[in-house]
Amino acid sequence: MFITNNFIYFFNINRNFNYEDVTTLVHEFIHYTNFKSINYNREALTEFLSIYFEMYGYDYLLDNGINSEYLDIKSRMRIERHNSKMLYQYGIILLAYSKLGNIDDNTLSDLKKYFSNSNIDLCYFNRKCELFYNNICKVINNNKDFVNNNPNSVGYLLSEKIIVGGLKHLLGTIFAIYVREYCNFNDIVYLNNNINNMNDKDILEICSSIIGIKVYSEDFYNNLNNALKKYIDYICNIKSNNLLK
Ligand SMILES: [Zn+2]
Repeated sequence: MFITNNFIYFFNINRNFNYEDVTTLVHEFIHYTNFKSINYNREALTEFLSIYFEMYGYDYLLDNGINSEYLDIKSRMRIERHNSKMLYQYGIILLAYSKLGNIDDNTLSDLKKYFSNSNIDLCYFNRKCELFYNNICKVINNNKDFVNNNPNSVGYLLSEKIIVGGLKHLLGTIFAIYVREYCNFNDIVYLNNNINNMNDKDILEICSSIIGIKVYSEDFYNNLNNALKKYIDYICNIKSNNLLK
């Protein structure tokens, strides 16, 4: 539980009664520590911060002699594989909606005007529409009370649960892998402690002035590539178990 100025929040965490509980608690606790107010930078970076410290938690446990077989070090990658798969599946629907507005019988033929050599057929497009629609129904069904009590916030709920949440985790993971490799731990602690007071900065300014990353430099992309390869090799070569139910 944690208390801010006006609200009391509870984290309901299903424990597994193994070392995964440690990294799960680290992840959720970091959300708590940077949740002093709702602001854009905190919203955009909170999953990055939680995932960065979650990875630090795995490193800490291993450095302190915990046998890697007691850890599920690949769990984050499994979650992000699921997120990236879902975001990829939605891509065509989101593109159609953003280009053409509400989806109807003409959407596919209109879309093909933009992609004349596309081989997307009606069957494929309908399957993606069905998947997207079913997931909207699922989210509404799983959040009936919220939907009934907050009818004006349903759009926010759907975007968070279906797209933005997955995107924040996926980008947060990629960024955390980079930062774990190239940046200073104390700078990230400072960022986590002060993100609520950084409303005067945009994310690029935070990256350059607090974390020390120039996102538009060529080095950034080469280093990112290197960090991702290195991390994938690292988790593939470590003996860990799939402990999550
Ligand atoms: Zn989180």
